Amino acid sequence: MALLVQKYGGTSVGSIERIEAVAEKVIRYKEQGNDLVVVVSAMSGETNRLTDLAKQIDPTVRGRELDVLLTTGEQVTIALLTMALHKRGYDAKSYTGGQVKILTDNAHNKARIVSIDAANLAQDLKQGQIIVVAGFQGVDEHGNITTLGRGGSDTTGVALAAALKADECQIFTDVDGVYTTDPRVVAEARRLEKITFEEMLEMASLGSKVLQIRAVEFAGKYEVPLRVLSSFEEGEGTLITSDSSEDDSVEQAVISGIAFNRDEAQLTINGVADTPGVAHQILGPISDANIEVDMILQNVGADGTTDFTFTVHRNDYDTALNILNKVAQDLKARVASGNNRIVKLSIVGVGMRSHAGIASKMFEILANEGINILMISTSEIKISVVVEEKYLELGVRALHDGFDLAEYETE
Ligand code: ASP
Ligand code: MG
Repeated sequence: MALLVQKYGGTSVGSIERIEAVAEKVIRYKEQGNDLVVVVSAMSGETNRLTDLAKQIDPTVRGRELDVLLTTGEQVTIALLTMALHKRGYDAKSYTGGQVKILTDNAHNKARIVSIDAANLAQDLKQGQIIVVAGFQGVDEHGNITTLGRGGSDTTGVALAAALKADECQIFTDVDGVYTTDPRVVAEARRLEKITFEEMLEMASLGSKVLQIRAVEFAGKYEVPLRVLSSFEEGEGTLITSDSSEDDSVEQAVISGIAFNRDEAQLTINGVADTPGVAHQILGPISDANIEVDMILQNVGADGTTDFTFTVHRNDYDTALNILNKVAQDLKARVASGNNRIVKLSIVGVGMRSHAGIASKMFEILANEGINILMISTSEIKISVVVEEKYLELGVRALHDGFDLAEYETE
């Protein structure tokens, strides 16, 4: 018998029929002898609908009252799901975040969980109840309702699993797992059976938006085994854990996946003085404008000057370029320029730590396709390159092929 925390996203509870289907699914797990805590999102589109209503009153609305409004979405689904369980003859009880006592800080609209009082839930579980908890919400120490940021129900699920020391946190969603890359780009992309938290974080932050990043961080920190699986199809999904399956007798793939990010833009300033403080003079005004910088590259100086290139989110491109033009004047640099038709391709895998030559293999694969690399950056478990946008599909496919990601496993 296991204690499972299951989270069902908005699509999974998007209609009465689907809520009834979730009830059936939950009951199947219950009948297998598991204890269950079920976290639900608002019905799909509901959080957006509520946000739009608020914006009709005040387009810039933020803060406490927005949280009071948005949390109603999840309150609807916990009640409906619990009713559906009752109808089927099962003991079940719904809880809002405040009723559990999911205590958060008071940062409205993006609060962080501080603690969870799991005593009531543990008591209910002992009595055989199925517990249904509203995702995405909590209360601060004064009882003000807070929310955890968009997609926050994942974090509720993981945090409850950590607090209750659950055996697994299962995230049911509209995809059946984490893939080696986006199947819309590479049809042969394969579902991973297992991936580590570190790899998942790299994949997620690079644009594979299956889970809220904060939820993955939380799960990694508290070592909550996390499984992503489909609400609509049977299957094992993908298990995200801390062990990199050293226990498995099968040979481990060096690369777990290919991630990519289309939202990139590159900026360059040429001919700045190669003296202390210049990097700060360039990037200071960028960060003052609240623009996040991703990759940074400075050339080896020549003739006392150097070139400096960095990337930002594409939405920030125009603002960043304006700032850089001013900086260029101030620093008497030769020229500032940019390119917002670039993308980032990355290979991710913990196996890289123990294998040499991965980078050169990556560059060879891209070279064979005639793809020019504009920038390179590496971390312990990731190598990223910036290339022109038109090479995105070709590059991802070539890398997926070159690293044998489609064929590796037989399931
Ligand atoms: N309903 C919230 C949202 O749409 C929270 C969630 O679904 O995780 O962002
Ligand atoms: Mg959602």
